[in-house]
This record gives sequence, C-alpha cells and structure tokens, in this order.
Amino acid sequence: MSRAKIKPMKRILIANRGEIAVRIIHTLREMGLTAVAIYSDIDQHAQHVTMADEAWPLGGQSSQESYLDIDKIIAIAKKAKIDAIHPGYGFLSENADFAQACLDTGIKFIGPSPQVITLMGDKIQAKAVAEKAGVPVVPGWRGESEKMSDKDWLKTAKNIGYPLLIKASAGGGGKGMRLVEKEADLLNAIEAAGREADKAFGDKRVFIEKYLIEPRHIEVQIIGDSFGNVAHLYERDCSAQRRHQKIIEEAPAPNLPEALRKDITDAAVRLAKAVHYENAGTVEFILDAEQNYYFLEMNTRLQVEHPITEWITGINLVREQIRIARGDKLSFSQDDITPKGHAIEARIYAEDPDNQFFPSTGILQKYQAPHKPWVRLDTGVIEGDEVSIYYDPMLAKLSVWADIREHAIQRLTEALKAFVVLGVKTNIAFLIQTLQSDDFKKGKVDTAILKRIPEQANASPQDLLPALAIATSSLRNKKSSSKQTSSTHTNYSPWNVFSK
Ligand code: ADP
Repeated sequence: MSRAKIKPMKRILIANRGEIAVRIIHTLREMGLTAVAIYSDIDQHAQHVTMADEAWPLGGQSSQESYLDIDKIIAIAKKAKIDAIHPGYGFLSENADFAQACLDTGIKFIGPSPQVITLMGDKIQAKAVAEKAGVPVVPGWRGESEKMSDKDWLKTAKNIGYPLLIKASAGGGGKGMRLVEKEADLLNAIEAAGREADKAFGDKRVFIEKYLIEPRHIEVQIIGDSFGNVAHLYERDCSAQRRHQKIIEEAPAPNLPEALRKDITDAAVRLAKAVHYENAGTVEFILDAEQNYYFLEMNTRLQVEHPITEWITGINLVREQIRIARGDKLSFSQDDITPKGHAIEARIYAEDPDNQFFPSTGILQKYQAPHKPWVRLDTGVIEGDEVSIYYDPMLAKLSVWADIREHAIQRLTEALKAFVVLGVKTNIAFLIQTLQSDDFKKGKVDTAILKRIPEQANASPQDLLPALAIATSSLRNKKSSSKQTSSTHTNYSPWNVFSK
C-alpha cells in the first residue's frame, strides 16, 4: 500500500551531523541525488555542511535546540521541498513521532514505519514479539512493573536468581540499567532504574533479566523491502564494550560454529518478518558460555558499526536503504550474499584514558588520518575543527578489511598507529592495546574483555604511537620557532595520555 504513494525521490535531507551525515552524503552523491544538510550554530563550518549540496540552519547549540527539534526540522524540510529524510543513527532515528511527522507531511522517512519503531523500541513488547516468533529471549520477568509491591519484587527476583539486571523498557545506551548481585540491593536498584528511565525516556517501566556472566554480544544486520523480502547480511561481534558501549566491532564473529551462525541469522530474519520489517535494522543477541543465544533488542535504523558489514558483503547499506524507501525491491536475494574475508572497526573517541575516559574537548591541532590500502575512515571532522561538549565525542571510525582475521588485526593496529590526533586526548593507544591483547588475538571476546586489558601495561607511547611522537616533536619545533606562539596553544600535552 505504502508503495503506491511513493513519489520520485530527488532531494534528501539528512537529519544528523558528524561522520554519519558525511557518510550518507557520499552515497547520495554517487546516486545523483541532492544532499540537504541541517546544522546547529556550532556546526556552521562542519564537514557535513561544507559537503552537502545545500545546508539549512537550525540555530541552537545543544541537541535539544537543534538535531532533536522535530518541528524545526519538519519546517525546514517543507521549505526546502524535501522528498525524503535520512535520520542516520542516534538523534531522531528511532523516534516514532518524527517518523510519523514525516509521513504526515508527505515526506518519506528512510526507515521502518512509526508503528514498527514504537513496537521494537519497547523492550518488553519487542521480547514478546520475539518469543511469539520462536526467538529465544533472556530468562526473566517482563510484567507490569507499576503494579508490583516490594514483596512481589523480592519474590520474582528470587525465582530468577542473582545476579540479575534491571532494565528500562524504553531503555537505550545503558540508561536505566542496573546490575543487582544480592537481594539487599534489589529494591533500591529498581527504584533508581525507574527514576533514571523516567527522566531519560518519560517511561518508568522496568523489567528483570537474568544476568549472564561474560556473554558475547552478537548482532545480525537485516534488511527488508516493501514487498516483504527480508535478507540478513550476516553477523557482527560487538563484545568489546566499555560500560555497555561498543568500541571495537568485527565481522564475521570469531569462533562461532557454522550451525550456530545459521540459527542466529535465521532467528533474526524470522523476527524481522514477524513485524513486516522494512529498511535496514539490527537484531541484537547475547550468547552465553554454553552457546545459548538470546534476543536482546532490535535497533530500527542504520547502526554505527555498519561499515564492517559493508566490507564483508560488498553491499552499500545506505544505497539499499534509499532504494527501499523509494519503493524498489531489494537488489539481492539471500543466496547472493557470500561474506568474504574479515573486517574490524575501532571507534576513535576524544576522551581521556587517564581520567576515566571522560570526553576531551579542544581544537584538533593535528588530525592526520592514515591512508592505506583496505583502510576506511568514516569521520566528520578535519584539522582545525573544535571538539565541543555538545555532541558525542566520537571523532572517527577506522575500519579495515583483510583476507583473514589475523591480518585484519594487524592492519587495523598499523592504521591506528599512523593516526595522529593532537589537541584533544584520544583512546587510540587503548584500542591498539585491546587489538594486541592475547585474548583478542585468540578471538576470546566477550563483554568483559576490556576489563582484562592490563592498564596501559608496559606500553611506552613511542612503541604504540610512533607517528604521534614524530608529529608532537615537529609541532613543538614549529612552535618554538614561531614568533606568534599563543599561550592557549601550549596547554595540551599528548604525552599525558600515555605516560603513567
Ligand atoms: P541498551 O539498549 O541500554 O544499550 P542492551 O539491552 O542493548 O541495553 O544491552 C547492552 C549491553 O549490556 C549488551 O551488549 C551486553 O553487553 C549487556 N547486557 C545486556 N543484557 C545483559 C544480560 N542479561 N546479561 C549480561 N549482560 C547483558
């Protein structure tokens, strides 16, 4: 039905910023479409603005005043005569009201329907759908939390057994999630999780899940068209996480038996078909030590780590998203997809490893990315840009492809070593140490892997980052010979990041 209404798509607005906006613009250009950017006051000179065919100001600085303001974005889309909106990830990408507002305005939202976004955005409902589709879910309790008495909670938790996780039904980004190891902590944790969820999502419903010890995070990329075709593009292992947030992802998942890979990917397709899923999405699972897999949640949008899937399948996911949104059939069938080789991605953050990985802000005095074969850089910044407090501190995603995993690890390590960032602190040295750890090399990846990386152990900055060492000394020389050395420019010390 929705197909008949689709009008030709020529002008696409990107309701996002940073690396993902830039990445989408590249594909729009290849497809001969017009890329329309929007920007906040502080993003006036940002890469996504410079690169777009047109750019419209949103005003404001914070996300709330700019990239999260549905009314402002829809008003611009109307004025700019936009045919479709690509939401990227984060911001409004999983906001059903935004998808509905697009629909109401006659603008195609490049993603699933508002109904599917709502359904899968509610973890309790999504798990019920999964169970109905025969997809295993983590053992736990998912009833009506508002009706529970303290006594009910204590009894329910006892039945599930400790340790357990309290999660917010509307949750995301680890918000509203609490690990409870013993009964004495249960009621406080439920109260705190509910409060946090209410504040973050305006929905205080929580549920309980058995806490699996050191599971793996494995997710399946799926894609469906408006004709009911659904295919998967294999899996990604995103177990290397800090505070439940991914920092290194790889495809395919290492040490995954072929039969299990088939079961997990089949389950993802089953779930997508059950909700008549249209466009790109990701079905997330956790895998326990006994190789049992459980559905966690579905992300109804393009995922940060999509480049590694593009590497191993050769499919441009953004192109497919746009084709599907304009009513085309999937350009491939499941049998056409044969994953090849191995891809790994590392997320480079402006953050301070010496200060609990807090965001690090400042001017990018040097930003020299590696140019090497089979190395892909997704970034939204250039040298001289300011990394502000307002948005996510991710500077770039560096990903590589190689014939086998071992080569991919070495390739990414070398690429990271050649990446020079001065002016803000970064997690680059930590990423190298993770890739080079025995566990990672052996493919012993689970969600506790980062805790096993010895803190900056035995690593001298010169060994880890030779390119940074050269850049730092040349910058120092330049400064000492320059008459205009400004005192504000001498405040940073990249060495602090690595010396302990
Ligand atoms: P969010 O949507 O807030 O990111 P998820 O449910 O997707 O929360 O979980 C995020 C991460 O938390 C997972 O990748 C995994 O590392 C960990 N996790 C989630 N559920 C469990 C569980 N039941 N047992 C152990 N770890 C879990």
